[in-house]
Parts: sequence; C-alpha cells; structure tokens
Amino acid sequence: VFTALLWAAAVSGLTTLILILVEATSVLLPAHTKFGIVFDAGSSHTSLFVYRWPADKENGTGVVSQALACQVQGPGISSYTSDPAQAGESLRGCLEEALALIPEAQHKETPTFLGATAGMRLLSQKNSSLAEDIFAAVGQVLGRSPVDFWGAELLTGQDEGAFGWITINYVLDRLVKYSFSGEWIRPLEGTLVGALDMGGASTQITFAPGVPILDKSTQATFRLYGFDHSVYTHSYLCFGRDQMLNRLLAGLVQSSRALLVRHPCYHSGYLETLALAPLYESPCVSTAAPPDFTQNVTVEGTGNPGACVEAIRKLFNFSSCEGRGDCAFDGVYQPPVRGQFYAFSSFYYTFDFLNLTSGLPLAAVNASIWEFCQRPWKLVEAGDPGQDPRLRDYCASALYILTLLLEGYGFSEETWTGIEFHKQAGGTDIGWTLGYMLNLTGMIPAEAPAQWRAESH
Ligand code: AMP
Repeated sequence: VFTALLWAAAVSGLTTLILILVEATSVLLPAHTKFGIVFDAGSSHTSLFVYRWPADKENGTGVVSQALACQVQGPGISSYTSDPAQAGESLRGCLEEALALIPEAQHKETPTFLGATAGMRLLSQKNSSLAEDIFAAVGQVLGRSPVDFWGAELLTGQDEGAFGWITINYVLDRLVKYSFSGEWIRPLEGTLVGALDMGGASTQITFAPGVPILDKSTQATFRLYGFDHSVYTHSYLCFGRDQMLNRLLAGLVQSSRALLVRHPCYHSGYLETLALAPLYESPCVSTAAPPDFTQNVTVEGTGNPGACVEAIRKLFNFSSCEGRGDCAFDGVYQPPVRGQFYAFSSFYYTFDFLNLTSGLPLAAVNASIWEFCQRPWKLVEAGDPGQDPRLRDYCASALYILTLLLEGYGFSEETWTGIEFHKQAGGTDIGWTLGYMLNLTGMIPAEAPAQWRAESH
C-alpha cells in the first residue's frame, strides 16, 4: 500500500505527501539498533562486552543494554610478556562471537575499545617497553578487524573508579530525575549509588560524599544531563584480590623463616608444595625474598580466622591515618562513607560463593565467614564438587574484604547495611566498561537533550 501511495504521489508530483509518508514510516519501523564493543583487559583475564541501544534514543538515560559478555580464554594480557603477539591472538575468539551477533552491514560503524587496568599498570611500571609491545599486539588484531576500532589504552585507577560509578548510576537511572511537576531535576546526592570494585590487582572506592573533597587528587568531576557531579574516588594498587593473596603469603613466608609455612587462612588439613620464585616476581611483593627462594615451600593450613585477620592487617598501614577522621589507610584521604553502595567483581564473587549476598547483618556475615574458615579442608572440598581452583582462597578473600571495608574504608555495623553485593544491574554486568563507552562516544550529554527540555515545559 505504501509503495503504491508513494508511486501515486510521485506521479502526481505531491512531494509534501511523500515527505509526510516518509516521516510516518520512520515512526512505524522498528528503531534501528546500534552496537558498541568494549574489551576489559583485567589482570587475571579479559572480558568482552557488546552493548546495544536504539539509535533514535542515543542520548537517553538507561537505554543501553548488554547484548553479550564473552570471557576470553587464557590469562590477562599482561601475562603475555614472553610472547606479546599471543595477547592479540587471544582476543580473536570473543571478537568472532561479537561479530556474529552484530549485523554485518553495521560492523564498520561499531565503535570498539580496549581498556587495560591494574595488571597492565603494574607491567608498565616494571617494564614499559614490554607493556607497549602488548598494546601494539592487541591494537594490531583489533585494528585489522572489520569494526571501528578507537584504540587500546591504559586506564588510570581514577578512570576505573569513576566509570564504574557512572555505569551503576546510569543503569539504575539515578543520574536524572523527572519531577512531579514535569521537570528534569537534579537527583538528590543521597540517591546516587557508590561503587566498590575489586579486581585481581587493584581495588576502587567511588562515591558522592556530600561534603567538599579536600584532596583534589581524589576528586572526579563530570557534567551529566545538565548537572555537575563531584565524586570521591581512589584506586589502591596491589590491594586487588590476587595481589593481596601474594602479599599475604610472602608475609607468612618471611615470618616463618623456614620452608614450612603455617597458613592461618587456609583450612586445617590443607597441604601444598609450591615454588616460591614466582611470588617475588610480582611488583606488589616488597618483602625481601628469602635466601632459599628458588626452592619449594610447603604450605600447611591451620584454619585460624583470628590469626588470618592479624596477618591480613599487616598488609595495611593503618598507623599512617591514626587520629585523622578523613583518612582510610596508607595515608590516603577519604571522607566518611555515605549512602548506598554496590560491591561487585571479586567482592561479589567471594560473597556469592559463601551465600552472603542476601543482605545479612554484619554480625551474621562475620560469624558465617569464621565458621567457614574453621571448616576442615576435607569438608570444604566435599562441599564443592565443581573443583573451583580458588577454593582454598575464599576464607582469606572474605576476611580481607571485611578488613578492607570496616577497618580500611570505615564502614560500621550501621553503614554496612547500605552495601549490596551484585554482579549485574538491569541485566548489565557492573564494571567500568559501560561508563567508559558512554563517555567516549558522548552518549551522556553534558546538557539535558533539547527534546527533554521541551517535554518538561
Ligand atoms: P580482574 O581480572 O582484574 O578483573 O580480576 C578479577 C578477580 O576476580 C580475580 O581475582 C579473579 O581471580 C576473581 N574472579 C574472577 N571470576 C571469579 C569467579 N567466578 N569466582 C571467584 N573469583 C573470581
């Protein structure tokens, strides 16, 4: 019918009718979908995310959703130091999956990014030319793929924290509010959600403190949908889960002064012989290697949560903040925590494994973790038929998380209830990737879109 009308209109020279019809069909046809790809090159592994959104709503809030999450096979890109080209090759599998999902005609207009975090930050510090070789290798593979590749870069800890905060508040629709009187208004600071992220090598805390941020190096500011935001953010390098475990073991090796280490965070009955040398390759391990570090060490679990917490506390410098109300640890400025927080990545994985994500009070969480740590290794193994390679480390990770949140960041029994442990919000994985893409593509405009402003009058 439409074609016939168009033909009739063209024949009779009624151009206005054609225009009206074209307008009408653009409303009737399903909205054209756009896609974007982000690689999260973390310290322990790389993930790829494909996002999609309706092209005609690009500037709205909460319109981007996750279409695919793909886990790259193999370790994080910073591990490919002896063969950087393989870091690039490792990305191909997930890239193919993404390309199979996105209509071929749109491949060349699909913005694609790779952001590397603390694993590559550590490698850059240790050997910057190796880090560059790895960036070149991943850039080559992505640059030659049929997508619109915007580049591979190293994110700062601040970026990582701030983009995680933007992601959460975007997917939860907290960045703008539509008032009863029909106006777009500034969201109350208390409705914004803080972000607690823990990767393998670093951990980030980001929130709107509601008070002036006195140390400007911890402040991130942005203008989103017409409103200015000022958030506190800090990234602690070497306080990610895997590096914490390395530092913990190195500390125990140092205090045992023998090739038998009694590990209080490992379950009783756990016994393992491991090579010491790799431990001292990490730039996060600052304790001096023992003279016989080329040998193997035997690690024996004692399942003692009290002693485990004591060993974990030694990883923090609390005395540098003594007497200062606005200091977390290691001399880092932090205003008091405030409001609701989402804890994701390793915070979530650890608490999910222990069935602690349902919002229990702090005392119950603490009791449950202590009970788990005291469980004999045989029972722990029997309870996990999945043969999780991280099984022995959940006790240490959980006690570390409690120490970091309570003694480090200063959460109390009361503010604890504001922390929620999530992997996703609204079907989207929580992390820095979505916020990063929204920022680089300009999809969160600084000013409220004109059409909204018109709607609100
Ligand atoms: P990154 O690779 O920097 O993002 O770090 C992710 C951290 O989470 C690492 O410490 C991983 O070992 C840990 N992790 C990743 N996936 C899981 C999982 N399914 N269960 C437990 N821990 C995980």
